[in-house]
Amino acid sequence: MINTLDKINIKDKTVILRCDFNVSIKEGVIFDDNRIIESLPTIKYILSNNTKLIILSHLGKVTKISDKKEKTLLPVAKKLEELLGKSVTFSKYTSGKKLEEIIDRKTLGDIILVENTRFEDIDGNKESGNDLTLAKSWSKMGDVFINDAFGTAHRSHASNVGIAKFLPSAIGYLIEKELLMLKKVTKKPDKPFVVILGGIKMNDKIQVINKLAKKADYILLGGGIANTFLKTLNFDVKESMYDKNSIEYCKNMIKKYPKKIIIPIDLVCAEKLSESAKVKKVYIDSIPDNCAAYDIGKETVEKYEEILLQAKTVFWNGPVGVSEISPFAKGTKSILKILKKSKAEVIIGGGDSAAAAIKMGYKDAFSHISTGGGASLELIEGKVLPGIKCIGKVKKKIK
Ligand code: ADP
Ligand code: MG
Repeated sequence: MINTLDKINIKDKTVILRCDFNVSIKEGVIFDDNRIIESLPTIKYILSNNTKLIILSHLGKVTKISDKKEKTLLPVAKKLEELLGKSVTFSKYTSGKKLEEIIDRKTLGDIILVENTRFEDIDGNKESGNDLTLAKSWSKMGDVFINDAFGTAHRSHASNVGIAKFLPSAIGYLIEKELLMLKKVTKKPDKPFVVILGGIKMNDKIQVINKLAKKADYILLGGGIANTFLKTLNFDVKESMYDKNSIEYCKNMIKKYPKKIIIPIDLVCAEKLSESAKVKKVYIDSIPDNCAAYDIGKETVEKYEEILLQAKTVFWNGPVGVSEISPFAKGTKSILKILKKSKAEVIIGGGDSAAAAIKMGYKDAFSHISTGGGASLELIEGKVLPGIKCIGKVKKKIK
């Protein structure tokens, strides 16, 4: 059994918490604070134990000094203060004496958020390359390590995996919840179990599809994935995005699961992918020249609704259309509406699908919206995530 927050002694200690505060920030404004909100139960629990709390997180990719300005965690420190109603000390130093001094000056009850751990990537890829010297220097700041960064759990970095080699550790409440909810999909989902698959990264998702296809009663297709299946079935998809390397794979899937895999009936097409695009609503065999399919159509939604309203468990990955652009967001919006109405346990996993559900106002409508894109998919594939595997291996702090 994995070590959880309730099983580790943190009372009166200095706790190092790895969060995933990799949120979208533009010009200092946080657009989607879901990952911060989802970290609050763990943060509050740790603080309620009279602890000094040091939080580590990365934000985006940092390869050169000029990336630093855009990739600072300072807006997150401010957001945390607002959410906790408590002051948060922000350290612009990510390692070394200056960081140690800031931490030494703080006492029990204080919170310190350390600047983006990937600033350590500029000089030798130390964070992303899981440099153990860096990991050890971080471990020295505290007594206990808690990993709650689910969105990063599929990566082996110094701040989530390396550090656990030196400190007693546990997972936080968010990772615990993610494991519990995503296991419902991979273990014994209540039947009928329906999977909705959209998005574009067909190649990345093949293992996930294989795994889910075994358990699912139906797989409803949308997005670029539907286009790839349509192409496989010899429909002329014209300019639509599809994955030509996955045609053979789709052929086999159709052969293996002829009744499970459900393709769209109609589509929303356009010549241009833009807010002002002139849309054409067509059946799958009539995509006009120069056009691409960017969403599922009304009749498809109706057909999917019938199946979804019978379901007891639904797992959704990948928007069924280009949900970021309003003329092509209708399919995704309609599916969200149907799922809210349904009595099924609904679990959404995948970066863009989760973002779409939250942006469209469905944050609290479902059983679970995963905070991990790649991590949720790798977990469903059956992979052991390094950020979870490393936990609980050390009994005493290694000095
Ligand atoms: P997730 O992050 O949920 O796993 P993906 O990353 O695979 O999903 O795909 C999400 C992207 O797919 C979105 O940016 C969306 O605009 C795009 N998309 C969905 N349907 C289509 C389509 N028919 N044509 C082109 N892009 C699409
Ligand atoms: Mg994505």
